[in-house]
Amino acid sequence: MKTDLPSWLSPAVKDTEPRFILQARAAERPADPLVSVLIPAFNEQGNVGSMLETLHQLLGGLGLRHELIVIDDGSRDATVERVLELVDRLPLTLVQLSRNFGKEVALSAGIAEARGDLAVLLDCDFQHPPELIPSFIAQWRRGYDMVYAVRESRADESLAKRALTSAFYALLNFGERNKIPENTQDFRVLDRCMLDALKQMPERNRFMKGLYNWVGFTRLGLSVRTDARRDGSSSFNFGSLFRLAATGLTAFSNVPLRLWTVVGGAISLASIAYALYIVIETLFFGNDARGWPTLVVAVTFLGGVQLLSIGILGEYIGRIFTEVKQRPHYFVARVTRSPHHPHHPHHPPAGGAE
Ligand code: UDP
Ligand code: MG
Repeated sequence: MKTDLPSWLSPAVKDTEPRFILQARAAERPADPLVSVLIPAFNEQGNVGSMLETLHQLLGGLGLRHELIVIDDGSRDATVERVLELVDRLPLTLVQLSRNFGKEVALSAGIAEARGDLAVLLDCDFQHPPELIPSFIAQWRRGYDMVYAVRESRADESLAKRALTSAFYALLNFGERNKIPENTQDFRVLDRCMLDALKQMPERNRFMKGLYNWVGFTRLGLSVRTDARRDGSSSFNFGSLFRLAATGLTAFSNVPLRLWTVVGGAISLASIAYALYIVIETLFFGNDARGWPTLVVAVTFLGGVQLLSIGILGEYIGRIFTEVKQRPHYFVARVTRSPHHPHHPHHPPAGGAE
């Protein structure tokens, strides 16, 4: 079967999905699907208006029924006003969270609101090129339940950030059968089956890339370019990336816990061997109380290892603490649905919306 992709948009990872499953999935795709576009927005007053117009034009031009869902993640600027200005014209839903919860939670709120047969997840700042959406949806039609973007290159990022990212994924996937792919973006298309699965994942620590991977279903990664942010500045800094990495590791990997069992075991074995050596040395050659440096090194080294492993335990216990509190993931302050929403009771008949 011919792929309907432009030549520069190519599968980034080897496609291993069995053909017969894809064919079966493709046969189940509705002819006239409803597309939900989920757009998390935090202080995006300069982007959100043009983003919504662009999406409406693009999807309308393709004859696709669509709903645009903006999740306002506690913006402090005029983001909400910009969206409300468009609510009378576009098939729009605005979900306002009660405060800033972070992008991962905002996406969960969007997934809860989505009514579509498939959802498109994309950033509000034009870094995920909207014109690629048709190619993503074309792959969804061919039977892939998730079509995700893989960064073409990370050349725009600092060497330190790239090195840390690689180390993070190496640790995260160490010894795992179901590896979380590296360099993926939050730009993706998800089928209804994945949306329903994600809604059933109860954890509070939401590392979405891990969750997408965990739920399974058929998938395809496409290599895409990343554009520069159009207006405003990124709200992610080193601290927030570090927290996300810690969430990802502790939510999806037991390696950090196991590592210290191995290190502790190795150190204990080494110290037993060393003790035996000292006994033998004393018996056969006598001992004039040397070994002070060895003692200091051993004590400080072990002290360090212990503190580190306690820190790692603390990290996991912190996660357990968050989970057992059973708090809701977020609070919605207000939901505004436009009269053009495809599920609105007074929605004008098809063709009458424009
Ligand atoms: N975002 C959000 N909540 C936040 C931070 C960001 O909803 O607390 C949104 C933001 O509006 C944008 C997307 O998440 O649509 C990506 O954010 P950003 O561009 O700041 O991150 P980067 O592209 O640098 O990873
Ligand atoms: Mg961005």
